[in-house]
Amino acid sequence: MDFSDSPEEAAFRKEVWEFIEAEAPLAGADFREAWQKGQTWWKKLKDKGWIAPAWPKEYGGAGMTVMQQFIFNEEMATRRAPRPMHLVIGLGMAGPTLIVHGTEEQKKRFLPQMLSGDDIWCQGYSEPEAGSDLASLKTRAVRDGDDYVINGQKTWTTLAHQAKWMILLARTDPDAPKHKGISYFIVEMKSPGLTVQPLVNMTGGHEFNEVFLDNVRVPKDNMVGEENRGWYAAVTTLDFERSSIGSAIGLRQEMDNLLNYAREHTEDHTSTLSVSPTLRYELSDRLVETEVARMLSYRVASLQSRGLIPNYEASALKLFSTELHQRISETAIKILGLYGQLERESPWAPLKGRLCYNFLRGAAHTIEGGTSEIQRNIIAQRGLGLPRD
Ligand SMILES: Cc1cc2nc3c(=O)[nH]c(=O)nc-3n(C[C@H](O)[C@H](O)[C@H](O)COP(=O)(O)OP(=O)(O)OC[C@H]3O[C@@H](n4cnc5c(N)ncnc54)[C@H](O)[C@@H]3O)c2cc1C
Repeated sequence: MDFSDSPEEAAFRKEVWEFIEAEAPLAGADFREAWQKGQTWWKKLKDKGWIAPAWPKEYGGAGMTVMQQFIFNEEMATRRAPRPMHLVIGLGMAGPTLIVHGTEEQKKRFLPQMLSGDDIWCQGYSEPEAGSDLASLKTRAVRDGDDYVINGQKTWTTLAHQAKWMILLARTDPDAPKHKGISYFIVEMKSPGLTVQPLVNMTGGHEFNEVFLDNVRVPKDNMVGEENRGWYAAVTTLDFERSSIGSAIGLRQEMDNLLNYAREHTEDHTSTLSVSPTLRYELSDRLVETEVARMLSYRVASLQSRGLIPNYEASALKLFSTELHQRISETAIKILGLYGQLERESPWAPLKGRLCYNFLRGAAHTIEGGTSEIQRNIIAQRGLGLPRD
């Protein structure tokens, strides 16, 4: 494979970084804060169609090709340009699913609001007894006049406490084979009967929630795709979710932060590097592995750009990059010694406690978006042709 840009790709890369250099707020700034303060970065991105660059132009995107998106993402991440991460479920998952499976009315109603940045979305798929085996979900939707009445429970629902809308899977035919009795709904979070309870993760952060649905009425027009055929739309959303997880550039940045810290603190007691030379080898290994992650992400992008659908290749990327994230955090904690345990509130926390946070939060990376065991099953069966049991 030729890893260099074609002349067109190089010109596009230049356009993106020149734009970022000229227009982006300070590297690493918080996008949400910037947007709430009415800063112009949002508007400038929007004018170029770069809020949702993969969406077709007719819906306010830039209609970028797969390779252009890859370059765009690389440049935005490398130059640490702020991106609207709190909108990622709407812009990156629900929106693209509506573009494929939604009615014209649904597209007109929901897509512009997503682009305006006013609507946060969440994803109500997982349930207490349905995660890896998602199709065994039990939440029920029963037709009643022009509505469906929904009862059940969702869990691990990221951003449910801030979201206006939720994409939700519910069983509409309990007698059909499990993949064939599911429908896909858009539910307004302020609907009567819907309650959200916080789940606090081990970093102390409130990212996800439990959502309880007690006779929640959802208009039939909020169904995406056909009744009992929601699994197809659900899989489309998951494909978009998985293709956006695990940025190799992000891993490289974590390594750069760590290396800079280690270089600047060789002699003081906040780095154990000088007393533990073997950590140098560990750092080198991590650096080589970030390059491997980058190659795996190129492989996925190059398949997509040839119109092929990455399958076990995407699983290999997800598995490798999320486990690598954990290894980088472990190396970082060893280098920081006891200081590595300090959280961001502590004035003595190296790198504002970021490495401690990464160490704790990284545990979830190998679960969210499909666990490592599930990725290994996919690689074994579809990549290596091994039998199921
Ligand atoms: C940070 C975070 C955010 C999340 N956000 C959302 C969200 O916004 N919306 C949403 O719907 N969900 C969300 N999830 C849920 C996530 O999709 C599930 O946690 C994940 O799919 C695993 O399901 P589970 O937790 O039910 O574990 P289970 O499926 O019960 O798995 C338990 C263990 O068994 C293993 N296992 C299961 N099946 C197999 C098998 N066939 N072969 C081998 N091993 C197996 C798993 O790998 C795991 O180790 C989030 C999760 C996390 C951690």
